[in-house]
Amino acid sequence: MNHLKVVIIGAGIGGLTAGIAMRQIGYEVEIYDRVKQLRPVGAGISLWSNGVKVVNRLGLGDRIAKIGGVMNRMEYLSQQGEVLNDISLRPLIDAVGQRPYPVARRDLQQMLLDAFPGQVKLNCKCIGLEENGQSVTALFEDGYRASGDLLIAADGIRSVLRQHVLQAEVEPRYGGYVNWNGLVPINSDLAADDTWAIYVGDHKRVSLMPVGEGRFYFFFDVPLPAAEAANAPDDMRAELAGYFAGWAQPVQTLIQRLDPATTNRLLIHDLGPIERMVRGRVALLGDSAHATCPDLGQGGCQAMEDALVLTNYLMTTNLGVEDALRRYEAERLERVSEIVIKARKRADQIHGKDPELTQQWYQQLREESPEAVTGAIAKTILGGPLH
Ligand code: FAD
Repeated sequence: MNHLKVVIIGAGIGGLTAGIAMRQIGYEVEIYDRVKQLRPVGAGISLWSNGVKVVNRLGLGDRIAKIGGVMNRMEYLSQQGEVLNDISLRPLIDAVGQRPYPVARRDLQQMLLDAFPGQVKLNCKCIGLEENGQSVTALFEDGYRASGDLLIAADGIRSVLRQHVLQAEVEPRYGGYVNWNGLVPINSDLAADDTWAIYVGDHKRVSLMPVGEGRFYFFFDVPLPAAEAANAPDDMRAELAGYFAGWAQPVQTLIQRLDPATTNRLLIHDLGPIERMVRGRVALLGDSAHATCPDLGQGGCQAMEDALVLTNYLMTTNLGVEDALRRYEAERLERVSEIVIKARKRADQIHGKDPELTQQWYQQLREESPEAVTGAIAKTILGGPLH
């Protein structure tokens, strides 16, 4: 179909990727976001090769290579700093045909904003929609209305438009742990500059990943009951020092070096799996449909895959918008549902939901061949639309 007008709610990774892809095929695209200023939640993100391939398809391969970190190895370490497994990512890159890029979120968002040849309309809070057989209209808090041939609800995990699609309320689910994340300068006293270092023990995790411009994206995970998790102490450093007392020196150095003012503290939630992604001329895309525990590093990559697949069906079919949306759902629902479940299992395994399984995993890390680790990651990547 040609000359469609698309209204997108949400200028996150999903909404922006869809906006760029649809502008590239000549559609009129308007993107609205409720915030006054776009500020990504979280410091960094690992864009695995399936996400990078979508970026490449948009013609942004050079840009992502510039802002991305060069990650050649993965290293699992015990809380005392003993190396459990040292894994070359070369077999993974060879298997999937593209290297992954850890990136600072701000850089990724800027790259996507620069590539969207329009202005994201800010301070526009969508509160609902109206649909008739011919078009769909987004309704905003201030009374403004925006109509198009289709509406993409890329409005994140707490989507206001999801209820219209599902005709039911589905609440996000607390994943059982808190995640602190931020950026620090790369330094060899923390980890090697081309290595994703992951300390595990006591159902907790500490990770350091190189992103562009000489920085590590770091995070800490600690399983906590919801009530305790919601109660953030004033002194973040003291909080982390308590949880990671006795861990290896690089972990202590990281706690001392991080900037509490720019470190995020998030309670991790996921969603679903839900039963549908579209209704009529409205499509859920990204976290609004399938917010995912970050333990596979796939949530943002899946939002990008959604954007590509939806664009392709709109472009390559001519039975109407509603038909193209149904095809999008038919292709995506199984894939994203599997990823949500897989990431949840992985989160439980890492964070000690069943302590015995977590102990088995620690043992497995010592014994597993590096190729088994990269093979599992490659399988997830190759399950996407760009094999
Ligand atoms: P969002 O980024 O949530 O964007 C939604 C947008 O909609 C926001 O800008 C919001 O302001 C706007 N909005 C919401 N409601 C309204 C409204 N009513 N009206 C108008 N605008 C509205 N993914 C990976 O691929 N790799 C990783 O390594 C990775 N790590 C992660 C680490 C953490 C700690 C977390 C929490 C997530 C991680 N993810 C990762 C997941 C990834 O961040 C998300 O899947 C991705 O950002 C979702 O993008 P989105 O565009 O769907 O939603």
